[in-house]
Amino acid sequence: EALDGTDLASRMAVRGAEVVKRLMEMGTIVTITQSIDADTAQLAVEEFGHKVRRVSEADVEIGLKGEDDTIDALLIRSPVVTVMGHVDHGKTSLLDAIRSSDVASGEAGGITQHIGAYQVETPKGARITFIDTPGHAAFTEMRARGASVTDIVVLVVAADDGVMPQTAEAINHARAAGVPILVAINKIDRPDADPNRVRQDLLQHEIVTEAMGGDVLAVEISATQKLNLDKLEEAILLQAELLELTANPDRAAEGVVIEAKRGTLRIGDIVVAGAQWGRVRAMYDDHGAATKAAGPAVPVEVLGLSGAPQAGDEVVVVENERRAREVSEFRHARTREKEVARGAPLNLEQLFSEIQEKESKSELPLVIKTDVQGSAEALVGALARLGTDEVAARVLHSGVGGITEADVTLAAASDATVFGFNVRANAQARELAARTGIELRYFAVIYDVVDEVRASLEGMLRPEA
Ligand code: GDP
Repeated sequence: EALDGTDLASRMAVRGAEVVKRLMEMGTIVTITQSIDADTAQLAVEEFGHKVRRVSEADVEIGLKGEDDTIDALLIRSPVVTVMGHVDHGKTSLLDAIRSSDVASGEAGGITQHIGAYQVETPKGARITFIDTPGHAAFTEMRARGASVTDIVVLVVAADDGVMPQTAEAINHARAAGVPILVAINKIDRPDADPNRVRQDLLQHEIVTEAMGGDVLAVEISATQKLNLDKLEEAILLQAELLELTANPDRAAEGVVIEAKRGTLRIGDIVVAGAQWGRVRAMYDDHGAATKAAGPAVPVEVLGLSGAPQAGDEVVVVENERRAREVSEFRHARTREKEVARGAPLNLEQLFSEIQEKESKSELPLVIKTDVQGSAEALVGALARLGTDEVAARVLHSGVGGITEADVTLAAASDATVFGFNVRANAQARELAARTGIELRYFAVIYDVVDEVRASLEGMLRPEA
């Protein structure tokens, strides 16, 4: 007997509407009771992250996601934390201070690698994973790609400044994601620090800290003086306990680019990350050391993929290369369909004609190159929000790697500026830029880029003198 949406939904323990929606995204329009062929069913089920076995021409057997996750196999995993808050309130300083507090780093020289996240060991042996890109831009971009990256948000509020606009924004982002907030009241070493005012301010945003009779944990810290960092870590672990975070290290790994969350990833595993796939050839931890296996919530850098996936892409281990290729091809096709639907330019020629069309409007054309994919996405997202009806930044191209001749050529075609974020131009690119009068700008802080672009856009609004 033929399969229908109801069968799949009940086997996967999801709502029927979810299955219909997923099928629709794959281009199969059916009602919940209409029969679907096994090939389509298999792809749909895999999109939900389940393993599939074909038991007959017409039927598939679904290995449920949590099938082997018996109570015995589940272990408490360490929490994954994102630090958010207003600019200059001390997010970077806090991440640096915590990084250097890592007990396990003692002799090994500390956490030095930028792999998007790092894991620290607290004095009592518990571990916490921190996403080391501060700010809500990165958080939002990840979420936009459907990744639930974070278990806990640490909201940094400077005690000498109180709740500011980006503090409120961060609160909203965390809420929208359903992620619990823990408050770090920072800079308490400053003479003008007023932690009570912070707690008071937070009330207006319905964050009721313990001192105010609520249940939100708040810890007074100084990132630069390294005061109470242990208390902050204890609070994070306490919050994590309430969340009952568990994972089964014995199962095949599942994770998110920038963060691996469940299961154990091993060298030799075949993984699909977004639309890319490959066999894990080597893994490096946050100390830059080669590792052979990465357990739940352990951030690693993976070598061996066919191309660069995007931040927020889901990572799954599959049984063989053929499956990996199929899933990857399916996802590629879906991405292409989405681009066509969005009217995204398909080739360089179309891109150029689109640029020429747009040039009559007040747009600030940019080419952006970054060290890691996450930064590129965070930047493009942040710049998109700066635009108004009259002026906007237009990112012609963004990508990972040093600035090359091709980037400068593209910029020259529409008089764009080239931004390098933690990357620089090679000699040929510099030479071409000098010859064509294209400006190359280097940045290391997202907010500097945003400030710069905002200032340029404001300049474009003013009438020419
Ligand atoms: P971010 O923009 O939130 O990442 O903030 P930063 O970490 O860059 O910090 C902004 C400024 O505040 C820097 O000059 C830091 O040295 C300073 N700062 C950060 N934490 C503290 C602190 O605990 N005490 C004091 N006095 N200054 C701090």
